[in-house]
Amino acid sequence: MNHKRIPLWQEDRDRNNYPSLDKNEKAEVAVIGAGLTGITTAYLLASNGLDVILIDRGKIGSGTSGHTTAKITAQHGMIYSEFISHFGKEQAQLYFQSQMEALAKIEELIEKHHIDCHFEKQDAYLYTNDEKNKHKLEAEFEAYRTLDIDGEGLLEMPVNFPMSYALKMKDQAQFHPMAYMDALAKAFSELGGRIYENTPVYDIDSADHRVIRAVNQHTIVCDQVVIATHFPFYEGEAFYSGRMYPSRSYVAGFTSNGKYPGGMYLSVDQQTQSLRSIIHNEEEIWLFGGGEHKTGQYKHNEEPYRLLKDMASQHFDVKEWKYEWSAQDYTTLDKMPYIGRLNKNRQKIFLATGYRKWGMTNSMVAANLITDMIIQNDNPYIDLYRPSRFHPDPDLKQFISTNTNVAKEFIMGKIGNKNDHIDKLEINTAKKVKHHGQTIGIYKDTHEKIHAVDTTCTHLGCELNWNNTEKTWDCPCHGSRFHYKGDVIEGPAIKPLNKIDYLN
Ligand SMILES: Cc1cc2nc3c(=O)[nH]c(=O)nc-3n(C[C@H](O)[C@H](O)[C@H](O)COP(=O)(O)OP(=O)(O)OC[C@H]3O[C@@H](n4cnc5c(N)ncnc54)[C@H](O)[C@@H]3O)c2cc1C
Repeated sequence: MNHKRIPLWQEDRDRNNYPSLDKNEKAEVAVIGAGLTGITTAYLLASNGLDVILIDRGKIGSGTSGHTTAKITAQHGMIYSEFISHFGKEQAQLYFQSQMEALAKIEELIEKHHIDCHFEKQDAYLYTNDEKNKHKLEAEFEAYRTLDIDGEGLLEMPVNFPMSYALKMKDQAQFHPMAYMDALAKAFSELGGRIYENTPVYDIDSADHRVIRAVNQHTIVCDQVVIATHFPFYEGEAFYSGRMYPSRSYVAGFTSNGKYPGGMYLSVDQQTQSLRSIIHNEEEIWLFGGGEHKTGQYKHNEEPYRLLKDMASQHFDVKEWKYEWSAQDYTTLDKMPYIGRLNKNRQKIFLATGYRKWGMTNSMVAANLITDMIIQNDNPYIDLYRPSRFHPDPDLKQFISTNTNVAKEFIMGKIGNKNDHIDKLEINTAKKVKHHGQTIGIYKDTHEKIHAVDTTCTHLGCELNWNNTEKTWDCPCHGSRFHYKGDVIEGPAIKPLNKIDYLN
């Protein structure tokens, strides 16, 4: 493998380093999590004159926002026909309007701060090569007409995918998300905002003044808190764990012998395929994505990157593979993000999550909405995104299915292991074994060293599954992911896995 297993966005980055929290602090608002949601919210709050601290357990942009494909669009799959049927025309219209306003606001900030982030307008396409989905896509076009969305039904597309029908949404956009986040974080600092990196937060005491507790024992006392940690690490009895599920996707970047014809593409068929391009280090890189599945639930051991590349090679004249990476995002019960107050008993704690892989515009919607709530401005989208909403259809159906799946993974994980011996374990692979009555995960590294951990997720106790592609232990219930040595990589878990002295 001579290509890099990192997101293109993280390469050759001209970034500031920020300190970790090394003293107790005070602020009007503490924003926890420095991805697109946290950085944008912190920036907008500081622009409104508030004293704000932004804090992250890693580096800024090291979460999903630094692993995205960064299409900035209101074309979020075939969502408008579904939203019209579940919530009605008015709510579907509001959703579209909020997303288009977000796109415009991103463009406005880029212009205002002269951010060099390859922002460019592109048309977005959904397409299908399946007769059943063709009817659904035609129905989606009908929804566009109902909502006055500027769309076009097509029998051909600029790019060479086998297809029978496509739906275009005009004048959408794309950018380089890390260049944008780095610049916005800098603009936030210049407004007096303070950024702390490498400081995991593990708790919020929500008395009159909220106290944010960092793992390194320091605290931040503040009036209001924004949880922008992707999955809310603090749920405050609002049960987000049962109301969202995580799913992963894979991205491969390549150069081609052909010229990229423009456009951003997404298939609506069972095998998701996504495509856009970017000029990076003076080369035209095609970014091809797909391979979606629930986190921690691996149907087979085949290399997802290999499958992705086989698929890309069928359609395009690949010259050289350059990058590959993967990431995950959360989907809510009714597919509408949760943005607003954590719950009615915690009026001064806000959160934003559940973007269903459409976080470029949704993070801006969230930043605007939460800023308006904190500075007590009216905002037309409060009810639409209110996290405490419940719609009997589709929430109930999805709630049962999500939690049946979680319960199944919980139980199967606990009982479904076989005893086996480490001698049979191949290098660079892992398996679960019983050890003194406990299930543990053992991984044999390239030097044949064994790393053994308790495979019980430290978030809510689900049994973890081995992800052989990334060499991680992944939670099939809520998406926490751990390094084979036990350290937390992402998700709601705060504590590392217990290491086991297996050989003794
Ligand atoms: C493969 C893939 C492709 C995608 N492509 C697109 C696309 O083309 N267009 C689009 O609109 N959307 C896309 N998305 C979705 C989008 O990338 C996400 O919705 C968005 O980046 C989420 O941003 P966020 O700021 O909420 O979360 P994140 O970027 O994950 O930020 C959360 C931050 O919180 C920090 N954190 C977590 N826990 C703690 C803690 N306890 N203490 C302190 N800090 C903590 C993390 O370190 C992280 O930096 C894609 C998603 C995936 C998975």
